[in-house]
Amino acid sequence: MIDFHCHIDLYPNPVEVAQICAERGLYVLSVTTTPSAWKVTASLAGPRTQTALGLHPQLAHERKSELLLFDQLLPQTDYVGEIGLDGAPEFRKSWQDQCDVFEHILRSCEEAGGRVMSIHSRRAASAVIERLEACPSAGTPVLHWFSGSQKELYRAVDCGCWFSVGPAMLAGERGRKLALRMPRERVVTETDGPFTERNGRTLFPWDAETAEIALAEIWQLSKDETRRVLHSDLARLARQARRSGRIK
Ligand code: MN
Repeated sequence: MIDFHCHIDLYPNPVEVAQICAERGLYVLSVTTTPSAWKVTASLAGPRTQTALGLHPQLAHERKSELLLFDQLLPQTDYVGEIGLDGAPEFRKSWQDQCDVFEHILRSCEEAGGRVMSIHSRRAASAVIERLEACPSAGTPVLHWFSGSQKELYRAVDCGCWFSVGPAMLAGERGRKLALRMPRERVVTETDGPFTERNGRTLFPWDAETAEIALAEIWQLSKDETRRVLHSDLARLARQARRSGRIK
């Protein structure tokens, strides 16, 4: 099973969560929201966990000074996230800072030879895609919890985007319709835990299974076939990550 976007460091019991992920053999992309959180979060990582270096758009205005640290740490990881833009009204004030931070990170990734990037694009899909189009060598973008329009989805596909889809997105008709139109060879599952819940219960990385079941329905495949597709997608994504220019 795969959780390609969760915040292990933000659970009240991160060590235990990481341990259970390892016991269950989960493949995890553990994203961070600030560069200063990367080292400790990376130290939690089990054998099948990758830790992504991020600067969340909702924190861009407070943490832009950490871009220096971001650039220092970037050679140590093949994965970047959570990054992106948030166009919701409550973050409009920080829009310019968000753009500055996101553009800086894309340029840094370009210079570093490309990274696999887990990207937030709430109410900002077009603005995110525009910037990705302007930085084609930044790496492989994975749009997490995509909620744009169908037109934006096709534009994202054309510019090489992948998608990580979770239980919350697939619970609604709109999200399921979008998922149906995503190319199957560019989809992985996620939970975005601990920021998501289902039936009043916080989601954990192993709840990615709910997304697998929903995708099996959408794709009209068995659960085993669905898992096979997702795992072969992840393997391809991991190869792309390794091809990037990390100093080993
Ligand atoms: Mn997130």
